[in-house]
Amino acid sequence: MTSERPLRSEREDVSRIGRALLEKDLTRASGGNVSARNGDRIAVSPSGIPYEDVTPGDVPVTDLDGALLDGEHEPSSETPMHTRIYAARENVGGIVHSHSPYASTFASLGEPIPASHYLIAFAGKEVPVAGYEPPGSEALADLAVDALGQEHDACLLQNHGVMAVGEDADAALETAEMVEFVAQVHYQASAIGEPVIMDDDDLEYLVDMFGSYRKQSK
Ligand SMILES: [Zn+2]
Repeated sequence: MTSERPLRSEREDVSRIGRALLEKDLTRASGGNVSARNGDRIAVSPSGIPYEDVTPGDVPVTDLDGALLDGEHEPSSETPMHTRIYAARENVGGIVHSHSPYASTFASLGEPIPASHYLIAFAGKEVPVAGYEPPGSEALADLAVDALGQEHDACLLQNHGVMAVGEDADAALETAEMVEFVAQVHYQASAIGEPVIMDDDDLEYLVDMFGSYRKQSK
């Protein structure tokens, strides 16, 4: 039998973008995870396999309750965050969870990243913080859904890392990179002076502009 396994391209995305997390310094070792949605199913990083070794065939497929539909490996322990966000955000097609160092610094402070650089607009008018709950818990998934709301494409997880979403997994990766960049810039600017925080009208304009780019590129 050579029956086609489900979500082939989404599994390829999860395998490729997992490696990109390491290559782009967005996580260390096996921290973080990636998922891609197709309808009411997701492909999500497997638990316990180093990113370098994850082939598309290793990537499990689950439903939106996290139940395994296909694959030999357990889905990531942080799958509840992914499934809850997909359930709450119809247009989200990909999610990247990273432990990138500058963004995680603000997560450790429990402070949102404010708009001191215009590229914050990839995430919204700021990058908000979800409070602390244990990694992998349903309670953390609920806090992340609340922090993202409908208007943010990224949030911090206090004492932990970053959740970034997008229309597909590549878009979520780009948002995760932008969050790390604006976190680094804000950290550096704060170290030598008082960063200028952009005003609401300017942010509104940028968020609209970035939103329309996203729609056009679909
Ligand atoms: Zn994590």
